[in-house]
Amino acid sequence: MKVVRFHAPGDVRFEDAPEPGAGPGEVLIRVRNCSTCGTDVKISRFGHHHIHPPRVMGHEIAGEIVEVGGGVDGWSEGDRVQVIAAIPCGECADCERGRMTVCPHQVSMGYHFEGGFAQYMVVPREVLKVDGLNRVPDGVSFAEASVAEPLACALNAQNLARVGAGDDVVVIGSGPIGCLHVRLARARGAARVFLVELSRRRLDMAADLVKPDAAICAAETGPVEEIRKLTDGRGADVIITAAASGRAQEQAIQMAARQGRISFFGGLPKDQPTITCDSNLVHYRELTIVGANGSSPAHNAEALGLIASGAVPVADLITHRLPLESAIDAFGIVARGEAIKVTIEP
Ligand SMILES: [Zn+2]
Ligand SMILES: [Zn+2]
Repeated sequence: MKVVRFHAPGDVRFEDAPEPGAGPGEVLIRVRNCSTCGTDVKISRFGHHHIHPPRVMGHEIAGEIVEVGGGVDGWSEGDRVQVIAAIPCGECADCERGRMTVCPHQVSMGYHFEGGFAQYMVVPREVLKVDGLNRVPDGVSFAEASVAEPLACALNAQNLARVGAGDDVVVIGSGPIGCLHVRLARARGAARVFLVELSRRRLDMAADLVKPDAAICAAETGPVEEIRKLTDGRGADVIITAAASGRAQEQAIQMAARQGRISFFGGLPKDQPTITCDSNLVHYRELTIVGANGSSPAHNAEALGLIASGAVPVADLITHRLPLESAIDAFGIVARGEAIKVTIEP
């Protein structure tokens, strides 16, 4: 079969690999869609300390079961499935408390296990053990199902930041994750959702699709002042930074309303992880700053439900569909911000 395999930073190859089979406790799927995101770009350029090459990349995975290994119950050939990306152990103190996104023993598809940029992929027993294989609801395409994983990450963040009815929400960063955050905030009953982005071109592309209540180009106007204006000086109830930018995080704190919640959804570059925070703003305004680290199996299942019910439409966010041999070109499209969501159809 054909795969897209990481060998070293800057060395990702479209090549042949032996077709795998389903061992005991495993399931083999024919991958139908594996979508790309900024993480794939980062891995292809810099590698990752959890990836020991060669490794098939790809972690936003949907496909159909072609083989069920011994001892696996409840699944059969032909079932349409979505696979989690981050795999918690299910047994540690954090997992037992339901904090699966911060399981210290977490492993991941496309990192510790062969990923979805391949014609066939083994769903490891570790995934099945924590209920990480989800049935794709009728009416949801494989391409849409592959977006359940990033939507699940957004869902985790909005749960932690308590996005709810009547909130004014700001999303900073208008990539695919930013677009999902806008849609999800609306589905949760946000009063207004504002989108902030540095690049005018990316902002316009995203705003055309997700129609925020205001689209603010941070290169043209000061976003903090603009949000204050839009909220009669109150600030926003929730600010989500979907950008790897310390400046965006600093602005998020400054534009928060009293008792505002700030989600640092996007991480910062490893060599520049510090920001300046006016601690008195946090103190007197009773701000809450929360992180967000991936998603749990339950978030993935819930995300599929949100897509199936139409609460969070994702079909129109998939702007590019490419064959497996073009996956490496797809990383370039993602890196240049020319697309919202690029999906690979192996
Ligand atoms: Zn991703
Ligand atoms: Zn655990």
